Amino acid sequence: MQFQNTLEYARELDAQDSISSYREEFIFPQHQGNNVIYFTGNSLGLQPKSARNYVDEIMTDWANLAVEGHFSAKKPWWDYHERFSGKLAKVVGAKPAEVTVMNTLTVNLHLLMVSFYRPEGRRYKIICEEKAFPSDQYMISSQVRFHGYDPKDAIVEIKRREGENNFRTQDILATIREVGEECALILIGGVNYYTGQVLAMEEITKSGHEIGAFVGWDLAHAAGNIELKLNHWNVDFAAWCSYKYMNSGPGNASGCFINEKYHNQKDIPRFEGWWGHNKERRFLMEPEFQPENGADAWQISNAPVLALAPYLASLEMFDKVGMPALIEKRNKLVAYLEFVLHEIDKEVDSNFEIITPKNQDERGTQLSVFLHGQGRALFNYLMKNGVITDWREPNVIRLAPAPFYCSFEDMYQFGQILKKGIQEKSV
Ligand SMILES: *Cc1c(COP(=O)(O)O)cnc(C)c1O
Repeated sequence: MQFQNTLEYARELDAQDSISSYREEFIFPQHQGNNVIYFTGNSLGLQPKSARNYVDEIMTDWANLAVEGHFSAKKPWWDYHERFSGKLAKVVGAKPAEVTVMNTLTVNLHLLMVSFYRPEGRRYKIICEEKAFPSDQYMISSQVRFHGYDPKDAIVEIKRREGENNFRTQDILATIREVGEECALILIGGVNYYTGQVLAMEEITKSGHEIGAFVGWDLAHAAGNIELKLNHWNVDFAAWCSYKYMNSGPGNASGCFINEKYHNQKDIPRFEGWWGHNKERRFLMEPEFQPENGADAWQISNAPVLALAPYLASLEMFDKVGMPALIEKRNKLVAYLEFVLHEIDKEVDSNFEIITPKNQDERGTQLSVFLHGQGRALFNYLMKNGVITDWREPNVIRLAPAPFYCSFEDMYQFGQILKKGIQEKSV
């Protein structure tokens, strides 16, 4: 496809976009009377207009029904979380029984490690990626220490090659083979938060199983962004937050995947609570724990329905649009953004370096751009001019145009603002 860096052309792409109308379903912050250009859907997705009604429904039921709302609300609260599994299963490529929503991401990874990090004898190491998201580093390190090991010895980091921005699959597989039977668990971010690189999850999972390790994925930047086939890939477990690409609202609940292989195992170690108990008998308050079928057995507390409400509103939109349509638009939108960046780069004779892989199979919605020679002043200029992006030291901006609500015209307009920012700064 031969793209053009013109307003007419960008509008033509929007006219051809079969899911462009969904933009109207979201609330954009305003800048001088216009929607901002929102590139931080990888950090906090925009609010779906329908979210407020879902929250209001619960507030109204609470007001009118109080405790009766558990069973008599329009959407009863006691099994509210069960509305998620079928729809989320489609987003992550799982069977409905393999998916549940609860707690928050780091908390869930800790809980899942109770089941899947079971160091014993020579097998006690965890393989993760270097410079993992800080919360993951703290989590893994504290788990290792909790089991009495030294993080310096028990954590093996997969490294990038000198001077390279992305991991090579062959290097990851080599590390896995090297650690071999000392490896208890492989736990990596499926989509790297900094570069946007999508890892070869199927191959890595297979290779982890070959050495007898459990393999789990942190899908914070993957859920609602890329195609996932967790069941088919035979992943052991995964968790993701919902407030990034899933547009569920700040700090909101996490989703979990637990492979059906581990369901209904009586002896699997797990921290338990009453919401994981067989729901038919939950309120009989019996002393003996009887696990619910599937991933729901990992539930602990009764569900925070006020938080789940906007997540459900958003998830229903995902269900209507479907991941294939989102991914098709995403590929075109990101390719157009990449094109615009190259065009502007030529016009201002700057030196942008896109550190995200070029190959569409190795990237999702995010392009991370090294703005050589530019400082934080450029980022400030963008923010002042209605472009919401994020800045990581030394001078990388991450641009994640969520296909649900970003337009091709946004990409064009961003290019114009970027160009002006660089030109004005240099005069
Ligand atoms: C966003 C993100 C988190 C955030 O964790 P919370 O527990 O939801 O605060 C964790 N890990 C990764 C890789 C992330 O991108």
